[in-house]
Amino acid sequence: MKLAIFDIDGTLTLGDRLGTRLFFRAFAEVYGLEEVDRRLSGYAHSTDSGIAREVLERAWRRDPLAGEIETVKSHYLDLLARALEKNPGAYRQVAGASAALTGVGSERGWKVALASGNWRRAGMMKLESAGIAAGDHVGAFAEDGLSRAEVVSMAVQRALREAGGRSFGKVVYIGDRNWDVETAVQLGIDFLGVASGGRRDELKDGGACSLVSDYDDYGGFFAALRDATGPATASRPIRRAAGEPTIV
Ligand SMILES: [Mg+2]
Repeated sequence: MKLAIFDIDGTLTLGDRLGTRLFFRAFAEVYGLEEVDRRLSGYAHSTDSGIAREVLERAWRRDPLAGEIETVKSHYLDLLARALEKNPGAYRQVAGASAALTGVGSERGWKVALASGNWRRAGMMKLESAGIAAGDHVGAFAEDGLSRAEVVSMAVQRALREAGGRSFGKVVYIGDRNWDVETAVQLGIDFLGVASGGRRDELKDGGACSLVSDYDDYGGFFAALRDATGPATASRPIRRAAGEPTIV
């Protein structure tokens, strides 16, 4: 049995940073924190829970209480829900994403899971806005850990439990940012980059050996998924026998 784990933002959905803007607006509205680093790459962990904790830690120079994080989380989820009520189609899918999720799920020997740095409800709202039905797939979210590696590990465990197996013969994480590549390296799993947001160079520099632009060509995407390898690392350089990154 093989497992394909899809990230959400930039991998399945595109939303012109609406979620990010509202996420940081919540800190301003709840705690009056206006001067917050809004570059997601400026944080130790690329999850809503990890970033929220670090924003408050930096501002207050102490560990935030769970309830203090809950308050800002709940305000952010309200802001996002209201924005999507006004504009239900604010998110769109990366070309062919919905069909790709369904397609891989029905491939013999493959299971599908979601693993996102979003808090669960935010991830689900973005998928729904983009018209992607993902209700049946197991998933792990920012509630499952501060680091993306914890979240992706939890997705693997849940998928294993569902499949009733002891291990997968192959696990591919499908993501769009350098932190996704790093996560695959940390967990020793394979990686397929989706260069949907023009981040081809970021992914290649991070060590991604397999890349697609989107899922428009399902056959090409599935071949890249099947053949995906682990990212290149210092001990496993990119120009190995497999050659240049595969661009589909
Ligand atoms: Mg992403």
